[in-house]
Formats: sequence, C-alpha cells, structure tokens
Amino acid sequence: MVVSDHSGTVDLVSSPAALASVAVGRPVRGEFTYVVPDTLSGRLSPGQRVLVPFGRGTALGFFLGPASQPAEEGIKLKPIQRVLEESPSLPPDLIALLRFAAEHYRYPLGEVIRGALPPGLSKAEDEKEARPDVQHFAVAAVTETPPELRRAPAQSAALAYLLAVGGRAPVEEVAHSIPGGRETLKKLASRGLVRLEEQVLKPGVREGLAQGRPDLLTPEQDLAVKALHYSLDMGGFQTVLLHGVTGSGKTEVYLRAVEHALAQGKGSLVLVPEIALTPQLVGRFRSRFGSDVAVLHSGLKDRERLFHWQALRKGTVRIAVGVRSAIWAPVENLGLVVVDEEHDPSFKQEDKLRYNARDMAVMRGKQAGALVVLGSATPSLESLENVRRGRYRLLEMKHRVDDRPMPTIELVDLRIERPRDGGPVTEEAPILSQPLLDAMQQTLDRGQQTILFLNRRGHSTFLLCEVCGLTLKCSECDVCLTLHRAASRVMCHYCGLATPVPDRCRECTGPMLRLGIGTERVETEVAERFPQARVARLDRDAATSGERVTELLAAFARREIDILVGTQMVAKGHDFPGVTLVCVVMADTSLAIPDFRAAERTFHLLTQVSGRAGRGKDPGRVLVQTYNPDSEPVKRVLAHDFEGFAQQEMEWRQALAYPPFARMAAVRIEGEHPEQTAGVARMLGDFLSRRMPPPSAGVRMLGPALAPISRLRGRTRWQLLLKGPTHVALSPLLARLEAKLEDIPAGVKVTIDVDPGAM
Ligand code: ADP
Ligand code: ZN
Repeated sequence: MVVSDHSGTVDLVSSPAALASVAVGRPVRGEFTYVVPDTLSGRLSPGQRVLVPFGRGTALGFFLGPASQPAEEGIKLKPIQRVLEESPSLPPDLIALLRFAAEHYRYPLGEVIRGALPPGLSKAEDEKEARPDVQHFAVAAVTETPPELRRAPAQSAALAYLLAVGGRAPVEEVAHSIPGGRETLKKLASRGLVRLEEQVLKPGVREGLAQGRPDLLTPEQDLAVKALHYSLDMGGFQTVLLHGVTGSGKTEVYLRAVEHALAQGKGSLVLVPEIALTPQLVGRFRSRFGSDVAVLHSGLKDRERLFHWQALRKGTVRIAVGVRSAIWAPVENLGLVVVDEEHDPSFKQEDKLRYNARDMAVMRGKQAGALVVLGSATPSLESLENVRRGRYRLLEMKHRVDDRPMPTIELVDLRIERPRDGGPVTEEAPILSQPLLDAMQQTLDRGQQTILFLNRRGHSTFLLCEVCGLTLKCSECDVCLTLHRAASRVMCHYCGLATPVPDRCRECTGPMLRLGIGTERVETEVAERFPQARVARLDRDAATSGERVTELLAAFARREIDILVGTQMVAKGHDFPGVTLVCVVMADTSLAIPDFRAAERTFHLLTQVSGRAGRGKDPGRVLVQTYNPDSEPVKRVLAHDFEGFAQQEMEWRQALAYPPFARMAAVRIEGEHPEQTAGVARMLGDFLSRRMPPPSAGVRMLGPALAPISRLRGRTRWQLLLKGPTHVALSPLLARLEAKLEDIPAGVKVTIDVDPGAM
C-alpha cells in the first residue's frame, strides 16, 4: 500500500486511506496517526514539519513515515492540514536517534524533537530562511595584540579571542564572546586590526587553510590516526575509545580523522564539554577547516541557531563543533562523531529530556553508520567496561608530545603540615601550607605560572554559631549558605538566594564562625602572601559571562597573570605552556559527596588539573594538599596509576551492583506541600513494588526516601531508585511508570531520570 521511492518521498497516492505517523509537538506520549489528504499525496517526506489538528486546535507535528492501519476499527482519523516546509528539517538518522531518545529516557517524542530543533523551527510556522548561505567573518589583520590596545580592554579581548580561534571566525561568534559585541569589532576594524568579510558558503569548497598542522605526528598519534583512517575507509558503525594521557595530542588525532572524513565527502560532529573554557580547541578546528566549521554554543541567538541548522542540513557547512546539545546537529552524510573528554559530567542534561550526549553520540553513530571516537585521559568506567566486553575498540597514547615528562605529583599531608599555628580556628587561619608557599615562590622567581585549584567557590562555605552550634541554612533549600565576602552576602549555591551577612546567631545571638574554604578566600590569602604577584580568580562568581572567561584565559595565556585560582573551570583541557606548578588546595572536597561516582570524579578532577602542569618545555610539578592521603583516588593519582584505580573501583562497583555493572533509573518527586509530596512518593513506591518482575530478574527498588537535598527552592523532594542488570530489565517497569505519570495530582512533579548522572 505504501511505497518509498529512492528520494525518500513517500508515495501515498495509490491508497485511498494512506496513513501517516506524526509526532505532535506537545507534551503527550507516543506517535499519532493522521490521514494523508489527496492534496498532500506525493508531497510528504519523513522529517517534514506539518500542521495537524490536535484537541480543539492545531499543533506543530513532525511527519515520521507511513503508519499502519489502526488496530481499532471505527476510529475517526483526522487529516494532516498542511506541510510547513518543502525539504525536511530532520534527516533520517536524526529521526531514528530522536525516537530512540524518547523511548530510552521516557520523554514525549514531540517534545524531544522540539527541544532538538532551533526555536525558529519548533513553532507551527512556515519555514523561514535565516540568511541563506551568507556569513560575515571577522579576520585578524595582525598576529598579536599591539601595545596601542592596552587601554582598550574590550578590543583587546576581542582580538585575543579571534587570535585564539585561529584568526578568523564568524562575527556573531566573536561578538558573543566579548564585551561590547559587534561595536567592539567595528572599532577594531576602523583601527585596521580586523577585517570584516562577507562570505557565501558553498558546499564542498575548502580554503586550503590547514594552519598549524604539524608535519610529524608522534609515533602513538600516527598509530591512532592510521587506525581511525582505516575504520573510516571500511565504513560503518564502530566505537573507539581513545585513551591518551593529558598532553598526548588527542586533538590532533581528532583533526586528522575529520580531515579524512571530509576527503571522503562526509561530515563530522565534535562534542566538547564547554566552549567558553576551550577556545583553543575551537581555534584548532577553525584554523584547519575555516568556514566549514559551525561552532554551536549555548549563547547563540535564535536566528544564528537557525542559520547553522540550515547550513548543516544543506551541507554547505560539514563540521559541527559544539556542546552537549550539538548532538542533535543535522550534519549531512555523517561519517564521524567525536566526543572529547567523554567522562565529563556536563554531557548529561539535568533538565527536561535528561539525556547523556556521550551515550547519544554512540547511538547516533549507530543510526548513521558512522565512526564514533570517545577521547579522554581518564575514561569513564562505563566506556572501559564496554572495551572489556568487546563493544568498543581501545586506542592508547601513553606519552606526551615530544616525550615531555608527566608532571611529578607530591602529597602535602595537612594533618602534619598544618598551615595554622595552633591558634584558634578563625576566618584568617591560613590555608596554604609551607611546602605550597615555597613552591609558589620558586615558580614566581623563575617567571613561570601557577594554577591553584579548589572545587568550591565563595569565601567560607558555612557559618556556624560558636555558642549553640546552629548552621546558617537557606530558607528555601536544605543546604548551608556560603559567605561571599566581596559581595558582602551569604548565598545559596542551589537557588541563588542572597542575603546580608549576619554577625550574630538568630537563635541565641552568639557570634558566627566562618568555616570551610572557598576560592575567594584562597585568592585573598594568595594576594596577601605574594603582594608582588599578579593574581586572578576563575570561577562562576569571577567570570559571570563567557566574555569574562575569554578575557581571563587570554590574559593568562599572554602571561599577564602569575597565579590563577579557580574551580574546575581551571582544570578543563587548557593548554598553557607557561604553567609549571599546579596546587590542589584541598583534594578532599569532592570525596565527601553522597554519590557512588565520588571517587571516580575525584580521580578525574585531580588528573585533569594535574595535566595542566608542564605542557611547555619546562617540566611540571603538582602539589596536592589533603587530609586523606590514604584515600584510593588520591594515592592512585599520585602514582599516575589510572589502571590500578579503575580496576579497584570496578571491583567495588561490581560488588555493590552499581553502573557499569547495573543500570539505574531515578524517579524524582517534587512538590510544594510536604504531605502531598510524601503521599505521591509512597503511592508510586506501592505502584512499582506491585509490578516488580520476579526476583530472578534482579530488579530492585530503593526508597521512596527523602532526596539527599530534601528541600530545594522551597519544594520538598523525594526519590526512588530502580536498579537492574540491564536497561531491558528495567524498561517494562519504566514504561508502566511513564503511563502512570498522567495520574499525578497537580502541585507535584514527577520526573524519570534514566542513567542518572549525579545522585
Ligand atoms: P591532549 O588533548 O591530549 O591533552 P593536546 O591535543 O592539547 O593534548 O596537545 C598538546 C600539545 O601538543 C598542544 O600544544 C598541541 O598543539 C601539541 N601537539 C600535538 N600534536 C603535535 C605534534 N604531532 N607535533 C607537535 N606538537 C603537537
Ligand atoms: Zn536555596
């Protein structure tokens, strides 16, 4: 009855009652069947946006393909009203991926699709073209920042950004990353430091840029590149885990693979954890591939998103580099998917469709028949287990480029090297031990740079009454308030609530002690100890915008900062050759979180931040202050023993049936009224326990129980955990639960989080 011709257009003419499967862009589950009216026969292609009657009105829909006759007789089906675009917004491999995501994460398909599309295409309107095929580029006319810009920080930052990304980038991208936006670029243009160019994008046209392409690969890079080229030549889906130590040159391997895919006429998709923090990586792609690269970051405007979507869809741009959500980019003829820092928790979306972009990347590769490369210095245990089971192929790079040595890592036992002098615990008690101070002084004397890492922002992380022991908590959340001294506020890091700093306890009027350290306090102490040094801080308080981040990182790269204090923002893939000393102020902060991944996260963070040291010609040194020198992750990082750590952690996970040896789903129940919320949690607990498969299936339910943070933004939170040997074992239960969500009373919100990230 329904045939599909080679162009993908579905010919529904021959049948009097041709039916179409449509995902409706509303929060409703499943796919809907509509009739294809005669006027539309021959004009429908899968992936097209259509207008359909829905409820009492109309809704945006996505035509997915022909539907079979509905099982029930006598259902009155409605016709599709209109087609909103000629060529489909969604390519076939992406439709397959979106369908998979809706099913796997238990989220309404229409909403999944709407969330993936740029806002311009997620409304029930006819297609508009953003600005077809023309893009404006800013091109640097100099190779370094001239002294005349010293007094123009915005222009200086703009030029620094442009130089960092390879000297040429779309105006819109530079404007987003700098203060003053387009105006700043115009000023630079009037000084003759930047040229503004218009370019018509054409499919397959390469400018032959290839700037900064090293002639020689390291032997390990060479092997990895050959292996990837071979896989690309063979064609088809395969997943490779590229495990390369920090500084081993993984980016160059990705670039060569992208080059090869391009030469085959295929597109590439490259996912990175955070673009503002890694302009250098974007730069390497830009200098190699020029306008063949679309950079997709969270700051794009609606129109820019639409522009990139259409350019990728038409194949005028063939490489997409972006953060998590770029996994939905409609790259034409996809041949390669790269996920850099595949272990990074930011690939997991913690809102709406709670997908993991790393996992979706593997699935996308499967749907498109593409090569998937997951790269990391510290691969996730999930990926390692997939290697062990023979699903992924392992490629290793154990040496740094030019055989630069790995940094030496030394421990400072805070139980012995107490920085304080036995006096009372006060706000001013020092944090930096003598070995740290000595090493920092030496580094300064040599004119080299230091990174100081602490994974907590603010000044003091809690306030406690000296008399009655009351800790100051957020009125809306079950968490302690953090003192931000520069802002003279105490703040909640969960809901953002900020209030004046109390001097006295509100219960007993006793004095409040300021305990627990944050980056703000470290910065203050460093500035006092080293008055001659240029000190800066990089965390979410200091760098409130992408612009500030770019400015700070550019200044650090130009060596205008001697000591950079920061949170995990300083740990990410930066490549600063001037950094020879990295100090971890307190290795213990991430060990204490109630999450089965706490040790793994600690190991990853410590390795990543250590990897910033000694990337240039001078060797690097890492000092780690800790109260837990015997903890597994700390000991293993010290010995550069990733294998040992992974093995031990695997044994523990297996014994306790945690991922990667089990699959989990968290059910979160949130509501305004504590009793009502608890009632719904118990009701769902009963509902699920009555539907549990027989014990032999190995599925277990934990809870319902109050969540670790039992109140957030004034709402009570409960959770339920489901654990099973495989996703398949859990999925019937999750399907039932999803159907049950329709009966949840107003005022309570229930979300299903499949393969949860943080617990
Ligand atoms: P990783 O991502 O593995 O930590 P990078 O890709 O950042 O490492 O590479 C580390 C440094 O080595 C970068 O400065 C990069 O430009 C340089 N590099 C990479 N490959 C080569 C090569 N074959 N020859 C010379 N330098 C290289
Ligand atoms: Zn709060």
